[in-house]
Amino acid sequence: MLNIVVFGAPGCGKGTQSELIVKKYDLFHISTGSVLRMEIEKQTELGKLAEEYIHDGHLLPDDLIIKMLADILESNPNEKGFIFDGFPRTIAQAKSLDRLLYGRNTGITACFNLDVEEKNLIARMLKRGEEQGRCDDTSDTIRKRLEIYRIRTEPLIAYYKKQGKLFKIKGDKFVDDVFEDIREILDRLIYQNK
Ligand code: ADP
Repeated sequence: MLNIVVFGAPGCGKGTQSELIVKKYDLFHISTGSVLRMEIEKQTELGKLAEEYIHDGHLLPDDLIIKMLADILESNPNEKGFIFDGFPRTIAQAKSLDRLLYGRNTGITACFNLDVEEKNLIARMLKRGEEQGRCDDTSDTIRKRLEIYRIRTEPLIAYYKKQGKLFKIKGDKFVDDVFEDIREILDRLIYQNK
């Protein structure tokens, strides 16, 4: 199986790159942010709860989001591999993901950390806010999300580095050029695993 984690600060382009990876490598895309936005649209119990956290730029509680992820994995038993976009976002989530995959006799193949300068992140999110009207793409919430990212999510760099699975990718480039860097690494990993 090919299981890929894509992570980086909000606005780093992980959603865009995940879409490209999914298309090329025929993986199942799990974007926790998109799932939550869908739940909000449908106004489910989870959606109503998620709305408050997301609006304020906070992360959802680990137990809740881990349960959501476990359910998605369980209902897709026959996939060739997964791309995790927006999950894990904390060390507790990363440990749970390792356990869940271990239970399926598999694990994370590679983790791509998209690195983008903060001023570019902010500009991208403000633009997205204007274009797509995402409730969390406003300047106050952006600041909060970046702060939470540094504290809670950035430690994942060391976590995956220790496992020898971390690939830092320069994300301040054209979409296709960023993807080219990812593709090169993935092709090499697939070749080595043959
Ligand atoms: P971005 O990376 O731009 O912040 P996402 O779509 O990945 O966008 O996530 C949007 C919001 O959804 C996050 O700010 C957070 O509130 C919530 N969320 C998504 N994934 C998780 C997660 N794994 N753990 C906790 N909260 C999450």
